Amino acid sequence: MTTTGKKLAVWKFASCDGCQLSLLDLEDELLALADRLKIAYFLEASSATVEGPYDVSLVEGSITTAHDAERIREVRARSRILITIGACATAGGIQALRNFADVEEFARIVYASPDYISTLATSTPISAHVAVDFELMGCPINKHQLLEVISAHLNHRRPRIRSHSVCVECKRRGTVCVMVAHGTPCLGPVTHAGCGALCPAYDRGCYGCFGPKETPNTASLNTWTGLEQRDLVRLYRTFNAASEPFREASEAHDGT
Ligand code: SF4
Ligand code: SF4
Repeated sequence: MTTTGKKLAVWKFASCDGCQLSLLDLEDELLALADRLKIAYFLEASSATVEGPYDVSLVEGSITTAHDAERIREVRARSRILITIGACATAGGIQALRNFADVEEFARIVYASPDYISTLATSTPISAHVAVDFELMGCPINKHQLLEVISAHLNHRRPRIRSHSVCVECKRRGTVCVMVAHGTPCLGPVTHAGCGALCPAYDRGCYGCFGPKETPNTASLNTWTGLEQRDLVRLYRTFNAASEPFREASEAHDGT
């Protein structure tokens, strides 16, 4: 990467690093931007860092500690554009399952010395704490979409990220609908496109890892899945459980 160009920083909060790996996986494609972009802060790739402020910050992960709630405000203050990447950063991630339960009880069950654990009762998306310029969904994100978002911001244009459902991607690749043909429960009709309808192509129902599409009609879909209430709750409570549409859909069927 060049020593000139716009400064890119990559920040990690509560996450598994999978979305940062998508960026690392872009090595060939990023070469095309080599004269425009300088990776200034990306600890997963290099311990060499350049001082901010930064032109573009990519943020992976959710806020689960008081320290991170403070740290994201510092990142925001040092970033001209702030883009959140992945279900953790855009919706709270799988770790937001704590939002539906008692986090102290979880800590008592999981850790031998829960007193050492300092954590918030909830996992929240970055947008709940600071202003976000763009949210890229997925668990993990699609690396080609990430490249599009980075180039769009370098060129001061709106990223071309479609907001339709996974169903449209199934139709485009000619995949037979798993719900209609086989009765397999599938969140494709309410899930944001971006994966290329990966799971239905292998005869599996979508479990919503790209999060809710624009204006998802979960109430209608729920009547089609043929699932019991408890199973509907489990279907929506995965990586994007705390996104508003999926949270509402699961709570509507959660009798507990
Ligand atoms: S969104 Fe998924 S892949 Fe990305 S950091 Fe979170 S858990 Fe990992
Ligand atoms: S089909 Fe659904 S669960 Fe499977 S990769 Fe795509 S968005 Fe994720």
